[in-house]
Amino acid sequence: MCSLGTTKNVPHVVCVPYPAQGHINPMLNIAKLLHFKGGFHVTFVNTEYNHKRHLKARGPDSLNGLPTFRFETIPDGLPESNVDSTQDIPSLCESTRKTCLPHFKNLLSKLNDALDTPPVTCIVSDGVMSFTLDAAQELNIPQVLFWTTSACGFMCYAQYRQLMEKGLTPLKDWSDMTNGYLETPIDWVPGIKEIRLKDLPSFIRTTDPNDPMIEFMSRECQRAQKASAIILNTFDALEHDVLEAFSSIFPPIYSIGPLNLLLKDVTNEELNSIGSNLWKEDSKCLKWLNNKEPNTVVYVNFGSVTVMTKEQMIEFAWGLSNSKKPFLWVIRPDLVAGENAVLPLEFLEETKDRGLLSSWCLQGEVLAHSAIGGFLTHSGWNSTLESVCAGVPMICWPFFAEQQTNCRFCCNEWEIGLEIEDAKRDKIESLVKELLDGEKGKEMKAKALQWKKLAHNAASGPHGSSFMNLENLFRDVLL
Ligand code: UDP
Repeated sequence: MCSLGTTKNVPHVVCVPYPAQGHINPMLNIAKLLHFKGGFHVTFVNTEYNHKRHLKARGPDSLNGLPTFRFETIPDGLPESNVDSTQDIPSLCESTRKTCLPHFKNLLSKLNDALDTPPVTCIVSDGVMSFTLDAAQELNIPQVLFWTTSACGFMCYAQYRQLMEKGLTPLKDWSDMTNGYLETPIDWVPGIKEIRLKDLPSFIRTTDPNDPMIEFMSRECQRAQKASAIILNTFDALEHDVLEAFSSIFPPIYSIGPLNLLLKDVTNEELNSIGSNLWKEDSKCLKWLNNKEPNTVVYVNFGSVTVMTKEQMIEFAWGLSNSKKPFLWVIRPDLVAGENAVLPLEFLEETKDRGLLSSWCLQGEVLAHSAIGGFLTHSGWNSTLESVCAGVPMICWPFFAEQQTNCRFCCNEWEIGLEIEDAKRDKIESLVKELLDGEKGKEMKAKALQWKKLAHNAASGPHGSSFMNLENLFRDVLL
């Protein structure tokens, strides 16, 4: 392990996350790893909007950083919103692509001119913030792209061009959503045996031949070719075939996940205390869980971007209530489209002794709590991997992006998930009961514990695959 340098001679990495919670969290973990294990001076670049949200959620001193781990901002180009919510993803993609590069170049010049900061030696940016490649090229420094998706999700995005050329997307019309078309088997994706059109990242569900998200993701995959290397937050044992298939398509891929496990031996308290939540964390969740029996509680959380209709929320509420199981349900203030989340009084009365509602929690700690028996999730990659790390089986209700692919892999490849196709109360009730009490639930729990072990092995030194891949990344690319 290198010491944390303060001189002008230490390597200096600039980390640029895509400005949404599910991208900022793993990028912060990478930044901490580079700082702690590689001895890097770190500049972490938030958007101005998210910087303000961090400060509001975590307090005015929360982004002061350390002398060798600093925060900077650039604008994202979108109008300011007063509400603490995730910005519209397609608009944010478009806007960051068009707006950020000149601001980012100015920032790099400022950093390189500063007397108290070592010169920038490399950039690690999100895979969908590839404008940074142009800046890295100008400075002639290595640039690593971090795709925060699963390997299977990334591989499927990389097929978007082919899907269009084969006429599989866009859809002919919206009836293709329900007429069985999405069941079309796809058997030519490298490293992926069985998949259906519906399991591909959701942006293919469009009738627009110039759909901006298809264009955007195809372009970003194309640009990934220019990177010095690509990082994925996954581990070899979990996604072996897909990872192997990448070798002929992309620059070298380093699978260095689960990042949170690689960070577990970080003893620097100041570094550990740097957080990335954009919503204020509710500390009562863990206390409430302390009074519950092991493996009895279903944890419900749909991440930072999912929105649902009022009707869907009511179906989830009655499904949970009718299951008679204890539950911890995290409802973001902006979870329900267009309005504040309001649950029926009858439901609140009925479940007051066995349900806890919260607005944001420390998910990693919640999942690791012995009381948690299962996770009802939207199958975001971070949530999925955090569940794998904790050995918790899932009920999957994928919302968008590559969550569909993650769900497919959870249910079919890793055998730790049950899918909800249609959010109806009876289905939710029966799946929750199956997850916590059923035969299938027991089998999934056993599998989940096996994956947990493999995840911890991958992150353990000196022979864990992710541990070694990180060392190789330092040696081959960054140092
Ligand atoms: N998260 C959290 N508390 C919550 C909800 C989410 O800390 O109440 C974190 C979660 O641990 C994960 C991230 O937010 O790291 C969500 O990322 P994910 O990829 O699962 O989904 P997204 O929000 O991008 O849809």
